[in-house]
Amino acid sequence: MKLAHIGIAVRSLNDSAPVFEKIFNTNAGEKEFVEEQKVNVRKIHLENCDIELLEGTDPESPISKYIEKKGEGIHHISFEVEGIQNKLDEVSKGGIKLINDTPRTGADNMLVAFLHPKSTNSVLIEFTEEKNRNI
Ligand code: ZN
Repeated sequence: MKLAHIGIAVRSLNDSAPVFEKIFNTNAGEKEFVEEQKVNVRKIHLENCDIELLEGTDPESPISKYIEKKGEGIHHISFEVEGIQNKLDEVSKGGIKLINDTPRTGADNMLVAFLHPKSTNSVLIEFTEEKNRNI
């Protein structure tokens, strides 16, 4: 399992993307809207992982709710797995609560699923896998 990306909740991509572009001296990718989560996403590709900047587009978006409660900052850590459904079943059998029993479609057309932070010391962990890996 390797680190895929770190998700950061921001109020405004327009304000925050230039900050992270400056820090990492590279351009953020194009903005992508993820309907499922009601978020706009821009990714910054680094050598060994990405930074995923997340902006809620609706008060009901999990990102908007997160910022409302906790403010901006690190929202989740994403790990790339092989066989995401098996991995979810495996950790679930081990007693870890899941937010998503089955994977959803996230940014970049990747499959994603979240573990429940109540089971993970309040660290929101996401599993991710390329969608068509096994087809
Ligand atoms: Zn993510």
